Amino acid sequence: MESVAKVKPETCFGCTACMAICKFDAITMQPDAEGFMVPIVDEEKCVGCGACTKVCPALNPWQGKAGENKFYAYQHEDKEVLAKSTSGGAFSAIVGNEENPYVCGCVLDNKLYVRHILSREEDDIAAMRGSKYVQSDMSNVLREIRDKLAAGEKVVFSGTSCQTHGLLNYLSVAKVPADNLITMDLICHGVPSNLMHQEYVKLYEQVKGVKGLKHYFRTKRQQWGLKFMLKNYEQAFVHSGQKPPVHGCADGDRTSLESQLWLNVFFSDLCLRESCYHCPYCTDNKPADITLADFWGIEETDVDLDFPQGCSLMIARGKGITKVEKLLNSKLLNAKQESVARKYQMHLTRPIKRPETRVDFWRDYHNFGFAYVAKKYLRYGAKYKMLMVLYNFANKLSDKRIAQRIGNRLFY
Ligand SMILES: Cc1cc2nc3c(=O)[nH]c(=O)nc-3n(C[C@H](O)[C@H](O)[C@H](O)COP(=O)(O)OP(=O)(O)OC[C@H]3O[C@@H](n4cnc5c(N)ncnc54)[C@H](O)[C@@H]3O)c2cc1C
Ligand code: SF4
Ligand code: SF4
Ligand code: SF4
Repeated sequence: MESVAKVKPETCFGCTACMAICKFDAITMQPDAEGFMVPIVDEEKCVGCGACTKVCPALNPWQGKAGENKFYAYQHEDKEVLAKSTSGGAFSAIVGNEENPYVCGCVLDNKLYVRHILSREEDDIAAMRGSKYVQSDMSNVLREIRDKLAAGEKVVFSGTSCQTHGLLNYLSVAKVPADNLITMDLICHGVPSNLMHQEYVKLYEQVKGVKGLKHYFRTKRQQWGLKFMLKNYEQAFVHSGQKPPVHGCADGDRTSLESQLWLNVFFSDLCLRESCYHCPYCTDNKPADITLADFWGIEETDVDLDFPQGCSLMIARGKGITKVEKLLNSKLLNAKQESVARKYQMHLTRPIKRPETRVDFWRDYHNFGFAYVAKKYLRYGAKYKMLMVLYNFANKLSDKRIAQRIGNRLFY
């Protein structure tokens, strides 16, 4: 039998299920030229048992989950948790409703590297809050989850749909009962690599002559919602030249062009993982028990939540429905409300389009480096520095209309 060595590189999701299932430790995950983790099979160790091909989501494409999908609006009742969550704090609510579970989620570590960890420590779970718009390194978490479930512990997993699919396939082939597991995935735009993010951090550090300590991908400093689209994605970069952060995401550099550059990297779509351009999870019937997203468009509905502080959309299926219905502030959407939610979620039906210049972007990056491609393909350089000054000025004057117009030229 063959191994995952036959998987076409552009279809691999980097989910690590193949590495986890291999009893002969013949697979290691290593970064490819774009910095995305891919499996490398050691042919000397491989016995051709085929287990890795059985768990691989690229070789066993997603067929959709049978059963009903229910749409809910949600907002966390604890204002502090809400302020530190990306949308309505749905992740924290689901975790908080379980009794002392192990939680597996995505953190930005102190080297500003994005990874998944498994922990039941409060500080670790708090660090999982908030979206990190980078593909998370799954390290060895799948085997750690297997061990906890096999020992009868409760586990809550939160990741992208491809990561969730890999985990579920792995547990099924490894014959580990998943009754004590709750999974959450996301409506997902796509993911740039840790390599690109590290390049961004390096550029920031070089230009500013400081050391990066923290990067917030969504500050939520201002109100949330369609009316504040640019502010929803405001970044904050905390560095060694500043006082230690005391107010969480309200701290950090939010006004320099460099502080906002990652937004442009993400939305340019130039360096998303190849698999994201033909993502098979752009459907209601995703792998997880609960799908999380921002409830864009809630303002256009009569859902009774204090939405300017952030609101989540949850799509629940199977045992996820019982979990969501237990939450104090969850509101089942009627057909009209659901159609508004769908209107703003294009990734429920289609993946992001692959930019024609993606190949040129990576060629130039490999030849000339990140600063070069940032100037050539992104909104970086003297002209944009000037626009950033005007943008900050318009914000200070509270001229939202002008700030929005300048911001559109700066960030998207
Ligand atoms: C890469 C990415 C793309 C997204 N695209 C969309 C989109 O197109 N439309 C939309 O409405 N929402 C999107 N989201 C989801 C959105 O940003 C919020 O995560 C969601 O609204 C949940 O917010 P929350 O307040 O419930 O939870 P939060 O407390 O913000 O946390 C949500 C969970 O997301 C997980 N997570 C964070 N970063 C990553 C990562 N890099 N990889 C895997 N898991 C991660 C964490 O483990 C955490 O448990 C995306 C999120 C990510 C990470
Ligand atoms: S075929 Fe078997 S031994 Fe070879 S890499 Fe896959 S799981 Fe490991
Ligand atoms: S999709 Fe996952 S299981 Fe398949 S080859 Fe890639 S990392 Fe391995
Ligand atoms: S867009 Fe699809 S393939 Fe890409 S990370 Fe998200 S779920 Fe995975």
